[in-house]
Amino acid sequence: MSWSDVLGHDVQIDRFKKVVSNGRLPSTFLFVGPDGIGKHLFARKLTQALFCDVNPEQVCEPCGNCPSCQQVISDTHPDLHYVELLTGKTEILTAQIVGGSVKLTSTDKKEEVFPGVCYELNLKPISSRRKVVIINDADFLNETSTSNLLKTLEEPPPGAVLILIGTSLSHQLDTIVSRSQVVSFNPLESSQVKQVLLQQNLVLHENQALELAMTSNGSVGFAVKLLQGNLLDVRREILQVFPGLPDQPEVVSDLIQKYVNLGGDRQEKYEHVEFISSILVSCFHQIALTLSGRENYGDSALLEAADRIHNRWTGDVETVLACIDRTTDTSAHARANVNVKTLVEAWVDDLSQIWLTGGFQLTTP
Ligand SMILES: [Zn+2]
Repeated sequence: MSWSDVLGHDVQIDRFKKVVSNGRLPSTFLFVGPDGIGKHLFARKLTQALFCDVNPEQVCEPCGNCPSCQQVISDTHPDLHYVELLTGKTEILTAQIVGGSVKLTSTDKKEEVFPGVCYELNLKPISSRRKVVIINDADFLNETSTSNLLKTLEEPPPGAVLILIGTSLSHQLDTIVSRSQVVSFNPLESSQVKQVLLQQNLVLHENQALELAMTSNGSVGFAVKLLQGNLLDVRREILQVFPGLPDQPEVVSDLIQKYVNLGGDRQEKYEHVEFISSILVSCFHQIALTLSGRENYGDSALLEAADRIHNRWTGDVETVLACIDRTTDTSAHARANVNVKTLVEAWVDDLSQIWLTGGFQLTTP
């Protein structure tokens, strides 16, 4: 296994190959992009390429099989140090960064001892030429941890590589951003999400992989969440009922409200609105493809729903885009804790109106 199982990030792979082969690898990277699209896998592959016993570092191509590559995979390589948000915590512990001992829960009798990655980075490498630290969940670094990290970053030990992995630049402190090489990662294509799901045996059937991929927003992580939450059934129900919108807007509205209200708190309700939005947007995309004479791509439930809608569609591509805009707006409103009933009813009414008239007289909540 070389880089071949990293899908959708060829530009980034080329960029790293270039700087590594030139011997100009910077010491600090900040990887940003949505969750679940392979940033963490990418960081591990890069580490393998730097540590590989078979291929020289300049080639920047991990063999995947040598002891060093295997140790990176099993997280036992003595020169790789890894930090992530611990279960139940809302920030990365300062002790994980600077060292120290803490009780992880109030009922713990023993304290957990952390050497701290700042300390580990400064040690001599044991079996490789350099030390690598990967900080996953960099969105959750607090100010103390950040300022200590920055001290290390200002004078990095020779050969040390620090990779911070976050979701967006807006979640990072400016001081980190300005001292890092920022590498942006984009969501994957649906076909790539499908390929990963099948390659990793996360699903057994091709159509199921496609169903998940079409609703995944380009994130394998999100696709797995859908699978674990049995959300494909919800998706099928929505796709079954939604094409009847012009005749029975209240049925569509009730179904969406029922599902959104299964969310316990505001955040969960918001996530459910997001989920329904992504289903509807993927449906509208199919209609736009059909209207512009392009080929459709999707699982059978999605294509059937899109076909039923298209058969009754009187508008043009602009009308479809207006429906997508209205749906995206709803997601934004849901984040602001709007009353679910009002939010969903206005959303469904507007979609129905746009669909039937191509009109834009919206009743924004
Ligand atoms: Zn190797």
